[in-house]
Amino acid sequence: TTTRPLALEVTGLRVEFDGFVAVRDVDLTVPAGELRFLIGPNGAGKTTVIDALTGLVRGTGTARFDGHELLGRPVHRLVRAGIGRTFQTASVFEGHTVLQNLDIAAGLHRRPTTLLRRRRGVPEEVLRALDTVGLDDLADRPAGELAHGQKQWLEIGMLLVQDARLLLLDEPVAGMSGEERAATGELLRRISRDRTVVVVEHDMEFLRNYADTVTVMHRGSILAEGGVDEVQSDPRVIEVYLGA
Ligand code: ADP
Repeated sequence: TTTRPLALEVTGLRVEFDGFVAVRDVDLTVPAGELRFLIGPNGAGKTTVIDALTGLVRGTGTARFDGHELLGRPVHRLVRAGIGRTFQTASVFEGHTVLQNLDIAAGLHRRPTTLLRRRRGVPEEVLRALDTVGLDDLADRPAGELAHGQKQWLEIGMLLVQDARLLLLDEPVAGMSGEERAATGELLRRISRDRTVVVVEHDMEFLRNYADTVTVMHRGSILAEGGVDEVQSDPRVIEVYLGA
């Protein structure tokens, strides 16, 4: 086996809210091309880690992605460095079609409506993203009419057209049906082939089928890390999950 290059390397991450330490001493290394799940009971600090890496909250320590320091950078710089994230509630432009949403995200031209009337004017990466997230058939549907799961897929597609190479996804399968979950799991595997993907997740059964590595957080710190079986049989993890 060859060693993959490091993609995300976080050391000593700490986040405080008015004296309350929400994240402490977090070291997290995610190799390029890995599908990593970040799990832990409610309040463990998972979302706060992602918030710190995407400039929504102030964190101290270091967080490098492909050589770029992420902490303390404004959001637009992070986007340019290839960092993309989704939220638990998908934020898409509901009144615009799926295609227009992708087009807006791509930001490739100033007058999308003119171009969108001619399908052949649609940029290649937009068509590719449509295909990757499986929304081809719904390209002309207003995003507001999409099912919950489809909105999450559209949001992931919007990150793909922005050429995000580190995707931080906050509970993407929350509220999804079993079928949507499976489709999302396959999608995550596909996109993680040439990107680095960190998924905050609660459901151990879901991640069992898809995770390369699982990092378990508890009370702001990392409690355990390893393969799904390894982590699931770790007495400390069992205790935290049963006690939660
Ligand atoms: P998780 O995502 O693992 O459920 P969070 O990262 O959302 O956990 O929260 C970690 C801790 O930080 C919780 O105790 C939460 O109440 C606290 N917290 C999160 N955001 C804020 C904030 N903006 N202000 C104060 N406390 C916060």
